[in-house]
Amino acid sequence: MFELNDSALLKTKLFINGEWVESDSGESFPVHSPATNQILATVANAGKSETRYAINCANNAMQLWQQTTAKHRANLLKKWFDLVTEHTEDLSKILTLEQGKPILEARAEVTYGAAYIEWFAEEAKRMYGDVIPSNHPNQRTLTLKQPVGVVAAITPWNFPIAMITRKVAPALAAGCAVVIKPAEATPLCALALAELASRAGLPKGLLSVVVGTNAAEIGQELSTNSIVKKLSFTGSTPVGKLLLKATADTVKKVSMELGGNAPFIVFEDTDIELAVEAAMASKFRNAGQTCVCANRFIVHSSIAQEFTEQLVAKVKGLKIGNGIEQDVTIGPLINKNAVNNMQVLVDDALAANATLEIGGTPLEQEGNYYPPTVLSSVTPEMRVFKEEIFGPIAPILTFDTEEQAISLANATDAGLASYIFTQCQRKIWRVSEKLENGIVGVNEGIISSEVAPFGGVKTSGLGREGSKYGLDDYTEIKYICIGNIEE
Ligand code: NAP
Repeated sequence: MFELNDSALLKTKLFINGEWVESDSGESFPVHSPATNQILATVANAGKSETRYAINCANNAMQLWQQTTAKHRANLLKKWFDLVTEHTEDLSKILTLEQGKPILEARAEVTYGAAYIEWFAEEAKRMYGDVIPSNHPNQRTLTLKQPVGVVAAITPWNFPIAMITRKVAPALAAGCAVVIKPAEATPLCALALAELASRAGLPKGLLSVVVGTNAAEIGQELSTNSIVKKLSFTGSTPVGKLLLKATADTVKKVSMELGGNAPFIVFEDTDIELAVEAAMASKFRNAGQTCVCANRFIVHSSIAQEFTEQLVAKVKGLKIGNGIEQDVTIGPLINKNAVNNMQVLVDDALAANATLEIGGTPLEQEGNYYPPTVLSSVTPEMRVFKEEIFGPIAPILTFDTEEQAISLANATDAGLASYIFTQCQRKIWRVSEKLENGIVGVNEGIISSEVAPFGGVKTSGLGREGSKYGLDDYTEIKYICIGNIEE
């Protein structure tokens, strides 16, 4: 099933303290293909004891690592980047097989994920402090940035490579050690990344991967162990809230990249073709399973019909199927539950008089497929408006005034990404400033990049990943006051 150029990248044991080990219980769990539901591999099933051991090893490994020069850390990260890039094809295959996204998208994710390693290799050397003009002539005021301590990283299945590199690269660059808990559905990408980090020469214990079926048990240890000083989580808002509460007793620094409900506003002065192209990329990439994907299309009533017709025509051109086939443009959903959720959301909308433009019924074939679906005449009372869909459903509703559009866009607790389409420069400023989101894409459907700060407001989270700000989440600022310098 895995025809890899380098078969040693397929790892099925835990990676702890630089070694590949079985779980303490000797148990393992199956990893399934979302395209066929067949078992791809069985992987060692970790729990609390392995997690605690990995944390202790991370603490030991950090003692030396934090004393290395930034240049040393940068060079090591650069080697990891080179190895990930060199093995793009194998990593993409593993990604598509366990996660389901089309192979072209998998390659794009490997490139995107690797870019964070390269970026933070460079940023490691720019972890500057300050010399601040003091209030007293015989004092000097300085700041240093220091590594925050051992980091726990809990990541989701939808971007099983990039969501890891976005956390691990800045943590290592800052001088921290990391214990990763990837999603049960996609452990193989995480383990392959660890193998490449090990080949790059990363000292033992600095990066461990614990995978298992009992996320709550592993998560409990990561979020309550007093050695862990920082928890970085990407996943759903309910689990993020649980983890926030769990970290309170040991007062950890936290980053929370949580769920979105992105508005995609199309004004009447828009180039409709451009907006439809962007809508396709934003909505149907990864079969709609992205936290920044357009969740609600809010379209001016004067162009809604044309926008809908063009979108439906494009949707007809998508090829749904097993992502490992080169011409497939939309893959399966992660599991059967996700398929069932789509039907529940569509049925709820149709019962409240939405119009089904295309799609709307699960495909009668092996695997977890749901067809790309477009709904019009959607209203704010429907679940597709209120909830994060996390699948290939595009709900369209209309507006007449700019105020109405903004008010619909902001009518959610989530505040991750948003999109606006207009050719009016003044409107771009006005609306961007009023949207309650961490990210605004203007005339653009794909907005993620290692150079830009990624993160949300409201219940979408805390902290930023990537960009010059991304390193700050893994550092503490120390203020040093040097007094009595006059003789
Ligand atoms: P999830 O269920 O919250 O899972 C995310 C991670 O948390 C997985 O590793 C999961 O492990 C683990 N987990 C689950 N329950 C846990 C618990 N009680 N304690 C500790 N860890 C626990 O989310 P998902 O369904 O995988 O991912 C989809 C969500 O992630 C969406 O809401 C999406 O918007 C969000 N997301 C956000 C961003 C962002 O940057 N803001 C990026 C990507 C995704 P198991 O899978 O092994 O159960």
